[in-house]
Amino acid sequence: MLHVIMLQRSTVIETTKLVGQEVLLKGWVHGRRDMGKLGFIDLRDRSGMVQVVLVPAELSSRGQEAMKDLRSEYCVAVTGVVKPRGEKQINPDLPTGTIEVLAKDIEIYNPSKTPPFDLTSDTRAINEEVRLKYRYLDLRSERMQRNLVLRDRVAQFFRDFLHKNGFVEIETPYLTKGTPEGSREFLVPARLHQGKFYVLPQSPQQFKQLMMVAGMERYFQMARCFRDEDQRGDRQPEHTQFDLEMSFVEREDVMSLIEELYVELIKTVTPHKRIQQVPFPRLTYKEAMEKYGNDKPDLREDKNDPNVLAFAWVVDFPFFEKAEDGGWTYSHNPFSAPKPEHREWLMEKKNIGDILTTQYDIVLNGFEIGGGSIRNHEPDALKKVFEILGHSEEDIQEKFGHMLEAFSYGAPPHGGIGPGLDRLVMILTNEQNIREVIAFPKTGDARDLMMGAPSEIEEKRLREAHIQIKK
Ligand code: ASP
Repeated sequence: MLHVIMLQRSTVIETTKLVGQEVLLKGWVHGRRDMGKLGFIDLRDRSGMVQVVLVPAELSSRGQEAMKDLRSEYCVAVTGVVKPRGEKQINPDLPTGTIEVLAKDIEIYNPSKTPPFDLTSDTRAINEEVRLKYRYLDLRSERMQRNLVLRDRVAQFFRDFLHKNGFVEIETPYLTKGTPEGSREFLVPARLHQGKFYVLPQSPQQFKQLMMVAGMERYFQMARCFRDEDQRGDRQPEHTQFDLEMSFVEREDVMSLIEELYVELIKTVTPHKRIQQVPFPRLTYKEAMEKYGNDKPDLREDKNDPNVLAFAWVVDFPFFEKAEDGGWTYSHNPFSAPKPEHREWLMEKKNIGDILTTQYDIVLNGFEIGGGSIRNHEPDALKKVFEILGHSEEDIQEKFGHMLEAFSYGAPPHGGIGPGLDRLVMILTNEQNIREVIAFPKTGDARDLMMGAPSEIEEKRLREAHIQIKK
C-alpha cells in the first residue's frame, strides 16, 4: 500500500484530467445512493463534486468497513481510479460528469451527525436563525461558498486597483475615541483607566485625514466600521468599507478614479453584468428628491434584468440640517468642506441652510454603496462648522482639538470616499440581504446566534473593568 500513502491529494475538479490514474481525494460526502451491492457517493470539496463508485470487492478492508458507515457530511479521504463514464452515464450538468472514481480505499477523518438542514440544495428557504446558529454548515452550501469567493475577488480587485494607482494600505486603530459621523458608537471600557472608555470607530475618518497631514498622500484600508444602530433589515453593527483618502485632489479627481474602479471591477470580476450608463449619471440632491423622492434612486430602466447595474452619483447635499432642538446638525460629515462658492457663507455663518457640501454619494440600483467628500483642511473654517453645530469653545478643543492642531501644521487639501463592500457584493450576487454575503453576520437585532453574543460576563471580569450592572 506504499504507493497510496505517497499519492498527492488532487482536488475533485482535477479528476477529469486524470482519467486512468489513481487519485487521492479529500472532502465531504455530499450524498449517498445504494443500488444492490453498489454504492455511489458524491464527494465534495471546495472545487466541486465527483461521483465515487463503491464496489466492496474493489475496496481495502478498511474501505469495506467505511462503506457501511458513510453518510452525508462525513469528512473522508478516498483513494481510487478515475474511469471514463459510459456514453449513457455522462452527466452534462456536472463539470466532472464525464468520469467517476472507482474507490479502492476510504479513510474516515470524522463522522458527521445528521445536519440540521439539507446542505445539498440552496439554503435560502431554511429558517435563518437555524442557518445562523449552524453557520459553518450553511457555508458548506454551494451558493454561500460562491458568495464568499466573489466577495474575495471584489476585495482583491479593490486592493490591486488602488495599489496600481499609488495607494498604500495602512491600518488604523479600532480602539480609539469617538468621531461624529451620525451613528451611535460602541463603547469599550478601559480596564487600565477606571471610568474611561475607548470607542470603536464608525469609520477611520479622522485617522485617514491625519494620514494626509502625515504626507502619505494616498491611503486606503479595508476597514471594519462599527455602528451601534437600531434594528434595520439591511444593516449590520459592523460593516466593511474600502476607506480611502487622497491629497491634492478636487471632487472631480476622486469621483473619476472611483468611477474607473467600478467600471474595471465589473469588467473583471462580473463580466456578465452590464453597466447601464457610463459615465455614471450625476444628480443633485435636489433633483433626486424632486424626481425620485429619495437620495438613492434606483435608475434601472429594466428592473427585471438581474444583470443590469445602474450606478449614479448624488452631489450637492445641504451641509447643515435643522436639528430637532432648533439648532443645526450636519447632513453627512462635519469634516467635509463646503462647496468653494459657499466658503464665505460658512466663514460668516450666514445662509447656513443654503450652504452645500462637497459630499458625493455613489448609488447602485437603489442602494447607497459609498460616500465621501473633499475635506475642510483649514482649521479656521473647520472650527466654524463646529461653532454652527453648537459646540462651545471648550467642547471643540476637547473633542476636535487634535484635528485643528494637526491642520495647523501645513495640512494639504484632501478628500476621499468609503466604498462599502457588503452591499456591493450583495447586488453583484443578486442576493436580497447583506447577511448572504458576510461569513458570520449578526441577526437583524444584532445577535450572533452561533457564538451566543452578546453574552453576560462573569462578576470578576466586570469588576476588573470597573463595571457595575444596574439590574
Ligand atoms: N467616513 C465616511 C463614511 O464612513 C467616508 C468618507 O467620507 O470618506 O461614510
